[in-house]
Amino acid sequence: MMDDDPERLLALLQQDPATARQLVQAQLAERAASDPMMAMVLQMATSARASDTDEADQDHDERSQAGELRGELARAQDLLDDLAAALGACAACWGADEGCRACRGHGVPGWRIPDEAMFDAIVAPALRRRSRNHHAQGRNA
Ligand SMILES: [Zn+2]
Repeated sequence: MMDDDPERLLALLQQDPATARQLVQAQLAERAASDPMMAMVLQMATSARASDTDEADQDHDERSQAGELRGELARAQDLLDDLAAALGACAACWGADEGCRACRGHGVPGWRIPDEAMFDAIVAPALRRRSRNHHAQGRNA
């Protein structure tokens, strides 16, 4: 089961940044594995970050890594929140936790009415691309 407690993660970040990073990546990968849309958004986020790693190479002590990771985590969390709103999913658990106080495990995408502005910003462009891709495949087949 996923551990979505940001406080606990932040505590771990301070004690053991390397383990925390692995934990965060594992969680994101787990979500991405069951959700192609999430995989796409994560890939976008990752490649956007890859472009500014050069300057980040210099002068890396544990503290700056932890701070960087905390920022990364916050950005990933914001992204997930936006995506959950766009898809009408429970931002706390995405329907994966029967004990979730917000949705009792029903919070999969479509659980609530998707936020129109978020949907237009995040999901609609992906749907357009997806449908273009399907048409292209249809022609080639
Ligand atoms: Zn939930």
